[in-house]
Amino acid sequence: MSKKTHDTPMLDQLESGPWPSFVTGLKRLAKDKEMVVDLLGQLEHSYKTRKGYWKGGTASVIGYGGGVIPRFSEIAEKFPASKEFHTIRIMPAPGMHYTSDILRKFCDIWEKHGSGLIALHGQSGDIMLQGCTTENIQAAFDEVNELGFDMGGAGPAVRTSMSCVGHARCEHSCYDEGRAHREVLNNFIDDIHRPALPYKFKFKFSGCANDCMNSIQRSDMAVLGTWRDDIQVNQAEVKNFVKAKGREYVINNVITRCPTRALTLRNDDTLDVDNRNCVKCMHCINVMTRALSPGKDRGVTILAGGKRTLKIGDLMGTVIVPFMKLESDDDFAKLVELGRSIIEFWAENGLEHERCGEMIERIGLNNFLEGLGIEVDPNMVNHPRTNPYVRMDGWDDEVARLKQAKAG
Ligand code: SF4
Repeated sequence: MSKKTHDTPMLDQLESGPWPSFVTGLKRLAKDKEMVVDLLGQLEHSYKTRKGYWKGGTASVIGYGGGVIPRFSEIAEKFPASKEFHTIRIMPAPGMHYTSDILRKFCDIWEKHGSGLIALHGQSGDIMLQGCTTENIQAAFDEVNELGFDMGGAGPAVRTSMSCVGHARCEHSCYDEGRAHREVLNNFIDDIHRPALPYKFKFKFSGCANDCMNSIQRSDMAVLGTWRDDIQVNQAEVKNFVKAKGREYVINNVITRCPTRALTLRNDDTLDVDNRNCVKCMHCINVMTRALSPGKDRGVTILAGGKRTLKIGDLMGTVIVPFMKLESDDDFAKLVELGRSIIEFWAENGLEHERCGEMIERIGLNNFLEGLGIEVDPNMVNHPRTNPYVRMDGWDDEVARLKQAKAG
């Protein structure tokens, strides 16, 4: 048992709800760790005074420019044991696959060198080893590095990428997310460890449009699995589904919820899919998992410029590559090349502290595409149209010209 604990009446209230509380976890750690005792004290003080007391600074490991988030307390005289509470960001394995043995080893290392508090995973996608003194950072990282894990990104750099569980366990997966993640990681490792860009840049990989990694909203380059042929339909399973759930349920929950009205439930309880109008939103497939699955001609859609708030508000990614195959070595090389072109263009044209999406908004999508050498395609919808009218000036002339060309 460590030194006496602080009174934490406000934090205690957070334990009273129905859900597990982080306060309970911290109290458990505080039994052995003085830094957690004072952390609880500082947190209670923050709640009382409604102020945060952490400031940044410099803390790192040899050979790396980033990856450690330094946190120094401004009220260290009151809570000396938590005066330094740095976070080490560690990149997860693609798809976040771990063995329980590795997780135990992480726990052992962090109990030895840090507070014992680990977040799997922060919104950055990293394994967050939270609560380390400046003195212990190097030793902790060395042991994690021995396990085969590397430091994640922080600051104005390529950040730690994230990929969904994908091919390993999900039947909706339309490409090898683990490989795509790994290829990007291997090629941009220098930009992850040595911050030298206008601001952060994130890659995220989701195997289908369900987008389990929130890549459209949260990444500068989102790689999303999709298909370009027809949805695979098992009509016998459709019939079983209708039999189990009833026609009314299927009509209310599948047919009418298709955003493009591409589905029809026939009188004999089979399904007709108007594939030309399907926008691959995944809804029907999610509901009727046995009956429907993505088509066989699979690949990816690539979007650029998603991000959270910052300067001009949240932005969703914009489609810059409607479809590309991602199977052969060449395909993966093309993906990496596209990532490199985007980063280089942004590094040259982005303002300081400006995300890629903000730059696209400032200079215009056309200029961005021209800079990358990508042809404009009608599938690159930046904003749904709000005006139903189309100007037809010159169309008659064009028709006459085409007719003439055909006749000649
Ligand atoms: Fe409709 Fe979406 Fe199913 Fe396509 S995937 S048929 S758009 S519900």
